[in-house]
Amino acid sequence: MRQERLADEYEVSEILGRGGFSVVRRGVRISSGEKTHVAIKTLKRFCLPTTTPPGIPKGSRGGEKSIAASMGFPMWKQVPVSDALLTNEILVMRKIVENVSPHPNVIDLYDVYEDQSGVHLVLELCSGGELFDRIVAQERYSEAGAAAVVRQIAKGLTAIHQANIVHRDLKPENCLFLNKTEGSPLKIMDFGLSSVEEFTDPVVGLFGSIDYVSPEALCQGTITSKSDMWSLGVILYILLSGYPPFIAQSNRQKQQMIMAGEFSFYEKTWTIITSSAKQLISSLLTVDPDRRPSALELLEHPWVIGDSAKQDQMNAEIVSRLQRFNARRKLRAAAFASLWTSTVFSRTKKLKSLLGSHDLSQQELQNLRMHFSKICSKGDNATQSEFEQ
Ligand code: ATP
Repeated sequence: MRQERLADEYEVSEILGRGGFSVVRRGVRISSGEKTHVAIKTLKRFCLPTTTPPGIPKGSRGGEKSIAASMGFPMWKQVPVSDALLTNEILVMRKIVENVSPHPNVIDLYDVYEDQSGVHLVLELCSGGELFDRIVAQERYSEAGAAAVVRQIAKGLTAIHQANIVHRDLKPENCLFLNKTEGSPLKIMDFGLSSVEEFTDPVVGLFGSIDYVSPEALCQGTITSKSDMWSLGVILYILLSGYPPFIAQSNRQKQQMIMAGEFSFYEKTWTIITSSAKQLISSLLTVDPDRRPSALELLEHPWVIGDSAKQDQMNAEIVSRLQRFNARRKLRAAAFASLWTSTVFSRTKKLKSLLGSHDLSQQELQNLRMHFSKICSKGDNATQSEFEQ
């Protein structure tokens, strides 16, 4: 086993972004002649209880052989991984490295290092920006452009689903362009909440907006690859209208609407969108997961192929709504990330133990949902007509 430190191999520079449990920095590989640019995601270590979460094989917990070591990645110091979420991301990334990589639409993992501060994932650098940022900055945006995006996400999903991985947190901010060129591939990333096998786990939906969460995840049914297809349906609805399909005065109400599959194609906006696109959204936002198309099936859909998608420039109103939606989403994400790290984790020991055990009672789950709704839904209580304005 190699014993290098991260700093011996990589020069780490500016922060690219922050997540609730992580900080991502730019890095350059200095040990080899060729300077490879990478993203280094550091997952912070928390002292969580040692219940083995579902999907994590026994023997991968604290005090035993480190997962990074079993992957054959270099480490300078063996510190057992003891955080359930942190362990899960590495486990899923290992499965991706073994079964999916390299894939044009799925983030690649190059190296893993562990030290006292946590685990550092050395990832493929995506410098092309987030999905919605890029779309709203484009001079030309059409249905055909949206179809190209869906095609790329569906290709990535097909690959991970074939490897029995469910992403479970698919949303626009987890889709990044590899580079700034016009034909840049779009990469699915952030497998922090993903699962290698199907299992029921109420943690999904706790960490942010419930906008993209499927009905079966909300009612704690079995989460499968079809749950990712629901999330893609929500992304597509927003791409073509500039507002989300489920808008309510409260998160509780929104949750009910999602579970009932209660959305509409508000006439004013949707009359100009092709019926083929609307038919596709309806099939993705079907409450019964078995009736949703798979990612592979999506790749044969006439609108996704591009045959029935309009080439005309998208209505300016839709683009401007998408801009506003994106700006609000970014503000909320920034507020949420800082709240999560500074307030929740530093002050709420109870929450730490709840998250660590993955074993929440209905009442505890409800309390947490309400707590997070309050944090997350500030500014998210607009009605559909407000969005339209
Ligand atoms: P978490 O799920 O851990 O709470 P998160 O979902 O917000 O976090 P992270 O994966 O931690 O997302 O990434 C945080 C931010 O860092 C992203 O929003 C993105 O801007 C940036 N980032 C992450 N990975 C990369 C990458 N490979 N290349 C470029 N930027 C990245």
